[in-house]
Amino acid sequence: MTKINPLLAGDFRIPFDKIEAKHVKPGVEQALREAQADIDELSVDTSRPTWDNAIAALDRTVERLGERITPVTHLMSVSETPELREAYNAVLPAITAFWSRLPLNEALWQRVKAYAQSDEAAGLQGIRRRHLDKTVRDFERAGADLPAEAKGRLEQVRIELAQLQQSFSENVLDATAAFELIVKDEKRLAGVPEAPKHRARARAKERGKKGWLLTLDYPSVEPILKHCRDRELRQEIFVAFATRCRDGDFDNRVTLARILRLRDESAEILGYDDFPDYTLEDRMVGSGARAVAFEADLVARTAPFWERDVADLREHASTLGLSKIEPWDAAYLIDDLRRTRYQLDDEDLRPYFPLTHVLNGLFEVVRRTFGFRIEEREIAELWHEDVRYFEIFDDDSGEMLGGFYSDWFPRVEKREGAWMNNFRTGGPRPEGFAPHLGVICGNFTPPSGDHPALLTHREVETTFHEFGHLLHHCTSRVEVPARAGINVAWDWVELPSQLMENWTWEREALDLFARHYETGELLPDELFKRMIAARRFMGGWAQMRQLSLGTVDLALHGELAPKLRKEVNGQHGPDLDSSQGDEVMRFGEKRFAPFALDPRFAHLHMLTSFNHLFAGGYAAAYYSYLWSEVLDADVFTRFKREGIFNRETGAAYVEAILSRGDSEDPDDLFVEFMGRAPDPEALLARNLGTIGEA
Ligand SMILES: [Zn+2]
Repeated sequence: MTKINPLLAGDFRIPFDKIEAKHVKPGVEQALREAQADIDELSVDTSRPTWDNAIAALDRTVERLGERITPVTHLMSVSETPELREAYNAVLPAITAFWSRLPLNEALWQRVKAYAQSDEAAGLQGIRRRHLDKTVRDFERAGADLPAEAKGRLEQVRIELAQLQQSFSENVLDATAAFELIVKDEKRLAGVPEAPKHRARARAKERGKKGWLLTLDYPSVEPILKHCRDRELRQEIFVAFATRCRDGDFDNRVTLARILRLRDESAEILGYDDFPDYTLEDRMVGSGARAVAFEADLVARTAPFWERDVADLREHASTLGLSKIEPWDAAYLIDDLRRTRYQLDDEDLRPYFPLTHVLNGLFEVVRRTFGFRIEEREIAELWHEDVRYFEIFDDDSGEMLGGFYSDWFPRVEKREGAWMNNFRTGGPRPEGFAPHLGVICGNFTPPSGDHPALLTHREVETTFHEFGHLLHHCTSRVEVPARAGINVAWDWVELPSQLMENWTWEREALDLFARHYETGELLPDELFKRMIAARRFMGGWAQMRQLSLGTVDLALHGELAPKLRKEVNGQHGPDLDSSQGDEVMRFGEKRFAPFALDPRFAHLHMLTSFNHLFAGGYAAAYYSYLWSEVLDADVFTRFKREGIFNRETGAAYVEAILSRGDSEDPDDLFVEFMGRAPDPEALLARNLGTIGEA
C-alpha cells in the first residue's frame, strides 16, 4: 500500500508532524505536474469560455498549488534542517519556473482573453468584475501582449535583474561576514550592556581568540553605536557598516547602476514612463508623481520637528563635551538623551508583559472591539512542541472563521524576526463558509529558570501587529481567494496590522494584561506616563530618516535610472559601468544631503547595502511604510473618539475594511469607514506632537 504524501493530504489542518524532508521532492513535483496538467487542460479547452471554466478554474489550480507548497516554505522558515534545505533547493528552480512561465503561457492568455471579451464577462459586476480586470492586468503587466521580440527582451531583462539582485544581497552578506574586530581592552566597551558584551566575548572564544569579537551583523553593531562611550570604536564600526560593498571584493556600485538601468528598461518595454509608474500603478498611491508629492508634503510638515530634535541633540552633545555631532554619535546621543530625560529603559517594562498575559489581553481586545472569540485547541499535528494552535469564531453567530498556529521562540533552525503567513484562504462558498488557516511567528526571549517569557513594549506591539495581519486573513469574507484577506495592495496591507499596535498604548487596554509577572501589580501609572512621554521622543528625527529613504528611492528610480540609460545608449563596457557606479554614489550623496545634519552624514549613505531597494521588494515603494502609517493613525482616531472597545465601531471596521480584502478599491473602503479621504494630521500628531510639547 502506498501512503499518501502528507504535502498532498488536503485536510484542513496540515499534518506538520508527518512532513519530512523526504516528502518534499516527490510531493512538490507531483503538485507541479498536476497544476501544469490542469493549466494545459483549461488552456486548450475549446468550449465556450465561462467564469467557471476559465477564471475560477485557473484560480483553483493556483490556489491548490500554493496550499501544497506553502507548508514547505513555512518549514524552511521555522525548521530549516540541512536535509530540508537540500530537498527544497532541489525543487526551487522548478517552482520558480512554474510561476514565471504562467503569465507568459500564450494559450492560457488567449483563453483568459477570450473570456474577457465574451458577453458573459461584459455583464460582470462587483468582485468578479474587479477580479477579471485585475487578472487581465496581471497578464499585461507581465508582458503577455507584447510582440515576440519585446517579450524576449523583457524575459532577458528579468532574468538578468534576478541575478543582479541576488548577487547584490550575496555581496552584502559576504561583506558583513568578512569584517571582524577584536577588542582586547574591556575599557573600550564601557557603556555597552552586559548581554551583548557577553555575546561578543563568547564569539571571540568560539574562534579561539582572546577579547571581544565585534562584527557587522546588526545585533553586534547596534549596542556599540547606541551605548559604547569610546567614540573611536563607534566610528570604526559605523564607517565599516555604512561603507560595506563600496569597494573591494564585494563592490556593489556597478550592480546598483545596472539594476537601475534594467528596471527602467523593463518599464519602458511595458509602455510606462518610468519604473515608479509601472510599480505603483496598482497600488493605492497610483503613480510615481503622487508618491513623490506624498513624500514632499510630509518632509515640509516634518521639518520643524526635525530641527527641534537636532537642536536638542546638539545641546545634549555639548553637555557631553562634543562640539560637533558625527554620524557615529547620533544613535549614542539619542539613547543617552532618552535615558536622561525619561529614565526609561526597555527592560523596565518587561516584567509587566509576560507573553501569555499579552496574548490573553490581545484576544480580549479583539473580542470586545471586533466580536471575535479565540480559543486554544490541543492538536498533535505541530512542527515543534512550542507551537500552539487556536481557532477564531464569530462571537455572535458562533461560526468558525479560521484556525492559526503561533510559534514565538527562537531556535537555531528558525529565521529571525516576526511574521504572519497564510496557508489556506477560505471565505463564503456555495456549501457554506470555508475557514481560513494561517500562522504567526516571532523570536521573543524564551522563558528561563523561574520566570516566564517577558516582552519589551516593542515586542508587545509586534505581537499585536502580526495578529492584525492574521485577523485580516482569518476574518475575510471575499468570495474570490485571490482578492481575499491580505492579498491587497502593498500600501494598504499594513493598515490592519499597524492599527492593532495602537491598543498597546492605551491605558484601558494595557489594564487587561500589563501585570507584573510576580506581584500581579498593574503597570504603575508613573511608569506608564514615562512610556507615553518617551513615545514621540526624536519623532522628527526618525520620521525624517524614513522620508529621506523614501524620497531618494523614488529619485533613483524616477530620475537617475532613465538618465543612466540614456548615457549608455546601447554601448556597454567596464569603464562606463564603473563611472555610472560612481554616479549613483554621488547622486545618493547629493539627494541625502538636504536631510542630513552635515555633508559627512550624506556621504556615508548606505545605498550599496540597501537590500530593501536592490534585493528586496521595496524598489520605488519605500514610501509605503509611512503611507500605511498615515492610514492606521487616521483610522484609529475614530476608535479614540467612539471608544477603543466600542463594538459598533469595531463592527463597522470589520464590515468596511477588515473582512473586505481587495474586493474593492482600498480608497473606497477607507472612505466607507471614515467618511472621507485619509488625512496625515493624525500621524503627525501621533509621531511628532506639537512644537513646544516635551
Ligand atoms: Zn506587517
